[in-house]
Amino acid sequence: MYKKCWLPLLLLCILLPGCGGSSQNVVRTRVVILGFDGMDPILVERMMAAGELPNLSRLHQQGGYQHLGSTIPPQSPTAWSSFATCTQPGNHGIFDFLRRNVRSYTPTPGFGMTHPPELAPDGSVKTPARSLTFRQGETFWSVADKQGIRCKLLHIPFSYPPDALEHGEMLCGEGVPDIRGFTTTFYSLSDAFTPEQLEAQEKKRVAGGMRIPLRFDGDEVTVKIPGSPDPRLRTGVYVETPLRITVDRNGRTLSLEFQERQLTIVEKTWSPWVEWTFAVSPQFSVRAISSFYALEVGERVRLYMTSLQFHPKEPYIPFSCPETYSGELADRYGLYKTIGWSHDTHALRQDALTEDAFLEDAEKTDAWLEKLTLDELDRNEFRLLIAVWTSTDRIAHMFWRFRDPKHPLYTEDGAKKYGRSLEDSYRRADGTVGKIMDRLKPGDLLMVLSDHGFHSFRKGFNLNTWLIRNGYLALRGQTDPATAHTEEGQELLQGIDWSRSRAYGLGLGGVYLNLKGREGQGIVEPSQAQALIAELRERLLEVRDPDTAEKIFSAVYNRDEYQGRAAGEAPDLQLGYDEGYQTTKSSAKGAAPAELFEPNLDKWSGDHASSEVAATAGVLFANRPLASNATLMDLGVTALHYLGATVPKEYEGKNLLASGPSAK
Ligand SMILES: [Zn+2]
Repeated sequence: MYKKCWLPLLLLCILLPGCGGSSQNVVRTRVVILGFDGMDPILVERMMAAGELPNLSRLHQQGGYQHLGSTIPPQSPTAWSSFATCTQPGNHGIFDFLRRNVRSYTPTPGFGMTHPPELAPDGSVKTPARSLTFRQGETFWSVADKQGIRCKLLHIPFSYPPDALEHGEMLCGEGVPDIRGFTTTFYSLSDAFTPEQLEAQEKKRVAGGMRIPLRFDGDEVTVKIPGSPDPRLRTGVYVETPLRITVDRNGRTLSLEFQERQLTIVEKTWSPWVEWTFAVSPQFSVRAISSFYALEVGERVRLYMTSLQFHPKEPYIPFSCPETYSGELADRYGLYKTIGWSHDTHALRQDALTEDAFLEDAEKTDAWLEKLTLDELDRNEFRLLIAVWTSTDRIAHMFWRFRDPKHPLYTEDGAKKYGRSLEDSYRRADGTVGKIMDRLKPGDLLMVLSDHGFHSFRKGFNLNTWLIRNGYLALRGQTDPATAHTEEGQELLQGIDWSRSRAYGLGLGGVYLNLKGREGQGIVEPSQAQALIAELRERLLEVRDPDTAEKIFSAVYNRDEYQGRAAGEAPDLQLGYDEGYQTTKSSAKGAAPAELFEPNLDKWSGDHASSEVAATAGVLFANRPLASNATLMDLGVTALHYLGATVPKEYEGKNLLASGPSAK
């Protein structure tokens, strides 16, 4: 009976997209979507069964819970792009963290780039900075916005630069670079670096950061902090500013002086946010923020500083829409983390940060987004609200080694201390969901999702080395396929003899043919391509771990999986690893190390990037019953239907709701 009364209203909403709110007779439907990157269904189900996720369990009972189909490959850039555009990767064109220039083979980021501003010789800005995304298609929130629906969009991964919204607000998350234009640049300062650590810094091989040696004169030292690049100078030259450090070894505090500021920080604590200005020229300054963590203050001194990230009130390139929104949030809450890669996994991997400091920071970062989301809910100035947390993914990547006894870095002590850090982050997520559920109004649709699940990463496979050993790839000057390999640091597909190479690997799971007419120096005749793809697929599916004789791939997908306008950019084969295996980071970057397999001795110990998609589903909860077999493409379509908006024809997702809004 109740639903029948809604039919005319629903029809009205369909005829008048974006209706609601203006008439007392019309219920103003709202949709709230919460994302928790990488939240794994097996772990969620185990915790629900143990009563550890009371709010998600409540949501399960209210509406439903199911596995959410991810993308091929089930990695965040690809998956969140399918979520955003309600289309398959073959249409949105994001296949991996890396893509290659098909003519020159040069690898570039897979999802977008930021170009710093160009300065005239006199120092004035000639061309403003600009960011671009390689993603094709229209986001469902842009579709809603064009139909008059106001959106609040908070930290949706890989949705940067911000969409030009007419009505709503968007604060970008993953994808926003630091002031140098990189994903992250941490600063590790210490008077106790080993010669190997210093050599790595000399050779600029500290991934995601830099090491600055502290050479104390008594208790004082002054170092230079390289900040913003000067676009007029050659790449790698930065505007520097002095940082003076005074150590009180007995009091275990550091006094920091820089840019006419003074700050004291106690051992094992985070500093508040601090502001920096880098005067690139008299006409162009870059404002930034960062924070410090004092790891060790005593006989040794070890200090960590976060990336220099955009000042929310004065970014040289906007990361919110409207541009002023990032500054308004600083007025509301004070300074806040603005970098998209908001958990410094690189620093933890390289011992520039401790597990405790990393987790403390993750908790603070989660709390900030929760506060913002709850405030925006209370303000009630939206009809579509989306907020996405990423700590659930980053903690899984970094702490899986403490939960898998078969992982080479597993220790019992570590397991005791950090074996449930991931569960802690899930419990935090559950708490956030509960607070949001308590604020919903009758008629609101709530969906909670993750973009993929998780696996252990125990052993790395050097795909390019395998291609060499099996005669598909050749290196210049090395004629024996049994031994040919690249040297340390020789990445980015350097040293390959393209005239003898039929296939190569790039990215976390992509295999490409060196195709004549497509690749710059292609040798594979198009007429032979299908046969070569089939042969590679068959042989890869037979690859076994020499230690266990187990197969390492559950699936190898060929390019037929990708249909659509961007399918031409897809890899020719995409790997689908079994539990425990992934491509090594060096092979992903286009190297071919000497060994075929390597035990994973990296703290980056859990992964999903090129796992078999069927075994790597995400989760989907809703406060209303949803149709089964849901995929990432369906949520936007469902939201648009629920809001009474017209759904674009190109969208490939389906409406998961059998009926329209009801005051359940
Ligand atoms: Zn991840």
